[in-house]
Amino acid sequence: MFKMLVPKLRVNTVFDINLEELYEQGYRGIISDLDNTLVGAKAPLATPELVAWFKKVKEIGFQLIIVSNNQLERVSKFATPLDIQYVHKARKPINAPFRKAMKMMNLTNEQTIVVGDQMLTDVYGGNRLGLYTVLVLPIAINEEGFMTRFFNRRVERIALTRLRKQGLWTDIEEEKKP
Ligand SMILES: [Mg+2]
Repeated sequence: MFKMLVPKLRVNTVFDINLEELYEQGYRGIISDLDNTLVGAKAPLATPELVAWFKKVKEIGFQLIIVSNNQLERVSKFATPLDIQYVHKARKPINAPFRKAMKMMNLTNEQTIVVGDQMLTDVYGGNRLGLYTVLVLPIAINEEGFMTRFFNRRVERIALTRLRKQGLWTDIEEEKKP
């Protein structure tokens, strides 16, 4: 079961994803988490660096949709000024929001990448549908909500201990994860 929590790729930030390479491999769409993946959970707007990244994503030829478990107000405030489509209150890891986003992009599972900072929601949800899953380090762990902090992260730690024992998780040097 814990195997489904292992992402295809682990990077520090979204900026470390080799977009060109993934495009060459046939991927055309990115389903991105918002909180602690693109910005800190309490940061309302994109940084200039992130705005530039969105532009690059588009220029390479990717579509991008934000799929967030957060409320409409938070997600729309962030996404609307950038003209980015979104699915809010997604209830990841259930399948529906991922399927909805792929439908919005008119893409198949084989063409879709999922990016997020949580193994239990982003990675697990994406893996179950056979999407290419990318785990980033959370931007601001101290801004996380109660559920994330006291449930999801705890389960992640348990999963990581197990995965390390099974040799399914090798720590990378720069990683700061518990
Ligand atoms: Mg998140």
